[in-house]
Amino acid sequence: MATEAEADEEKVKEAEEVEEVKEAAEVKDAGKAKDTKKPGSETEEATRHVMESIRDSVEKSLLGQIEEKEVDVVPEALVIGGGIAGMYAALDIADAGFKVHLVERLPSIGGHMAQLDKTFPTLDCSACILTPRLVDVGAHPNINLMSYSEVVGVEGAIGNFKVKVLKKAKYVDEATCTGCMMCEEACRLKGRFPNEFDVGLMKRAPIYRPFPFAIPASYTIDAETCLMQKKGKCGKATLESTIEAVKKIERGEEVTKNEAPPCVLACGPNCIHHDMEDELVELNVGGIIVATGYDIIEPECMPEYKYGVYPNIVNGLEFERYSSASGPTMGKINVAGMPEPKDAVFLSCVGSRNSQTGYEYCSRVCCMYLAKQAHLLEEKVPDCNITVLYQDVRAFGKGFEEFYDRVKGEGLSYRRGLASEIYKKPGSNRVVVRAEDTMLGEPIELEADLVILGVGLKPSEGTDKLLEMLGVSRTSDNFAKEAHPKLRPVDTDVAGVFVTGCAQGPKDIPDSVAQAKGAAGALLSVLARGKATIRPTVVEIEEEMCIGTKSLVEMAENIGA
Ligand SMILES: Cc1cc2nc3c(=O)[nH]c(=O)nc-3n(C[C@H](O)[C@H](O)[C@H](O)COP(=O)(O)OP(=O)(O)OC[C@H]3O[C@@H](n4cnc5c(N)ncnc54)[C@H](O)[C@@H]3O)c2cc1C
Ligand code: SF4
Ligand code: SF4
Repeated sequence: MATEAEADEEKVKEAEEVEEVKEAAEVKDAGKAKDTKKPGSETEEATRHVMESIRDSVEKSLLGQIEEKEVDVVPEALVIGGGIAGMYAALDIADAGFKVHLVERLPSIGGHMAQLDKTFPTLDCSACILTPRLVDVGAHPNINLMSYSEVVGVEGAIGNFKVKVLKKAKYVDEATCTGCMMCEEACRLKGRFPNEFDVGLMKRAPIYRPFPFAIPASYTIDAETCLMQKKGKCGKATLESTIEAVKKIERGEEVTKNEAPPCVLACGPNCIHHDMEDELVELNVGGIIVATGYDIIEPECMPEYKYGVYPNIVNGLEFERYSSASGPTMGKINVAGMPEPKDAVFLSCVGSRNSQTGYEYCSRVCCMYLAKQAHLLEEKVPDCNITVLYQDVRAFGKGFEEFYDRVKGEGLSYRRGLASEIYKKPGSNRVVVRAEDTMLGEPIELEADLVILGVGLKPSEGTDKLLEMLGVSRTSDNFAKEAHPKLRPVDTDVAGVFVTGCAQGPKDIPDSVAQAKGAAGALLSVLARGKATIRPTVVEIEEEMCIGTKSLVEMAENIGA
């Protein structure tokens, strides 16, 4: 250990060295400045040059002390988001022999793909192609599936991230629940609350499983709606009596309905525990993949379309649920209890490509999902007159143009033009879509029993906070920013953190899967090498842009820099 005197001497020596570098720079650059003679500004220009050179030399001499470091890589990965992109990334890493923690905030993995009926351009049944993959993820020995969980803290750098995950209490033991549904059947509040999976078109109990093929297949109690969790009482049973009742059941003793709520009494394996608590789990991983997907843009951002005012105006995701055999109408197009439509209008670009809504980008999937939905409606209700109003059709993917041509040839009408407003036809349930046919250059009015709004995609709620926690930048449209849009499309500006699927930008399933495999490959190359290089990062301030908030200084203090 160096003594205090030795340390002081060291500091003096360092200061002298810096001074020497300054002097050398001054001499060198004063000479340089003499050569750049400009009438009227010689002295000023020379002084500025000298000052810049001194600053550069001092910075360089100090930076020279910061060295690249090679660190060991923890051979585990974290994937945040269990949609199709996160699932594929997790499977590829797990198949390569590394442990993966897959954190999903909902009770089941699957993401939006689980909600879709058929998928363009091949019209495969979404649930049929997704279910085997859900099972693979749930059963993979290298995947630690943490559903109903969220990342709440991240520290460290490539090779060694320390991550805090909040595992929310499900009040049901995942390991012993058989998914038999008896609790849901018995629940006092059965069928009272909107099921998020069916975008509120079906109802669920406080104890529920989001959809029949969910993984994990176990049930979850929603603490916001369960009587015991909200009020500490369900019927005559209190939390205390329920805890005792569960112990009695374990001992094989009889329990009355005054001691335990109906869900507990109905549960054969006795796996409901109303005293379960949230858990904070700490993970240590070598790299992270962000796959938090998207939310649909609320159609209310275009109030002229009267979404939420008239029940026969639905968004694209609602149409998927109506069209699905497992949806609220078992695949029949009886929207809001109405008969099958005689006239239907699809509107593209709802929210997207519009500076007034704040979503100026193209959402890339709406043209194609509207073509798919128009085809499905035509198939289910052959007598229905279908019109698709479009801005311009972007059928850019493999097989997309062919699919679009096929749909156009099915007798429905594609008309170029955007709707200006929708209003109710007086004295009927029908609505009128007012638009301009930009090919004919004339205003048109289309009467309809059903209007489907082709809403676009935006980053899923909370992704901004998560990216901030990870130190990852966002693009102006709020999606995660890639390190380079062409050459490093799955890397972010934080080494060891990668992005995939709709968290990076709107995209369809094939592109989400391809990008997931890319992100998995990129992270695998870090894990397989076992070592990572940490490079010093130098901050530069653009003086013209600086508004003096000192937030960087605060950030540096927070991380102890
Ligand atoms: C109406 C409609 C129809 C469509 N039809 C088709 C089609 O026919 N064919 C096609 O190719 N594509 C279609 N798409 C696009 C398709 O849905 C997407 O390509 C695909 O779902 C993207 O997958 P993802 O995993 O990136 O995102 P998501 O499916 O959104 O999955 C993201 C997952 O991350 C979870 N998550 C979010 N935030 C967090 C967090 N902070 N922590 C933990 N977990 C989090 C979410 O709960 C979700 O499970 C359609 C889209 C829409 C809107
Ligand atoms: S009754 Fe018990 S085992 Fe059956 S689904 Fe409900 S919690 Fe699971
Ligand atoms: S405690 Fe009551 S409200 Fe809560 S899940 Fe059980 S039966 Fe339903």
